[in-house]
Amino acid sequence: MAKLIILGSSNALSSKSNENTHMVLVGEERIVMVDCVNNPIQRLGQADVDFMDLTDLVLTHFHPDHVSGVPLLLMDMWLRGRHRPLNIYGLHYTLDRMETLMKMYSWESWPKFFPVSFHRIPTSENTCLLDCDEFTIKYSPVRHLIPTIGLRFEFKNSKKVLAYSCDTEPCVEVVRLASGADVLIHEASGEAQGHSSAEQAGQIAAQAEVNRLYLIHYPTGEYANGNILSEARQHYQGTVDLATDFMVLEL
Ligand SMILES: [Zn+2]
Repeated sequence: MAKLIILGSSNALSSKSNENTHMVLVGEERIVMVDCVNNPIQRLGQADVDFMDLTDLVLTHFHPDHVSGVPLLLMDMWLRGRHRPLNIYGLHYTLDRMETLMKMYSWESWPKFFPVSFHRIPTSENTCLLDCDEFTIKYSPVRHLIPTIGLRFEFKNSKKVLAYSCDTEPCVEVVRLASGADVLIHEASGEAQGHSSAEQAGQIAAQAEVNRLYLIHYPTGEYANGNILSEARQHYQGTVDLATDFMVLEL
């Protein structure tokens, strides 16, 4: 059975117990990381996932609190003697910048570097990103400060569906992406341009008619404020919880 492990649940201002938001989907044949921050091999190790086993990496958008760990991940894979290819998926905006960043590290001169395939995906709604025996991953552009995608995971054995809003204002694209999902993981940074409050996340969950809502990318530690769970419950009758670091969802 596939499982999704939350590797971080905080907004950009992380705290002692909450790393920046990112996650990993562990399947039988594929292990797909969604965003990659800080020291990924430590974080994956704490979740009992060997970073060398990653097959795919999805980059939702090119903000440091979502992609800061990519150069270190690639370097550490190379240092461990990786040969298998790694697939990296993202919008043109995202991958153009990631390739430029790696060029600044002169990665083309790292001897015997393993193959990295950059899969540039078009800006189109509800489009397939990855399909394998166990699951399909679809995406839609959402409304953030820069080009960003939200994700929908459809699991073939269990028939479960999980959607992840990523960083976004409340928008119909997320309602459609999450439509009828068992679980919606929605950001709750607070009401601001390109972001959503917990109350707005609850409204989106209600509109999408999902069974369960997890809030993520929320203010943590000394930056936490208010009761975001009760805010989300104002407009949504289903179960609401906080996504927390190292939480595991069986799918
Ligand atoms: Zn962002």
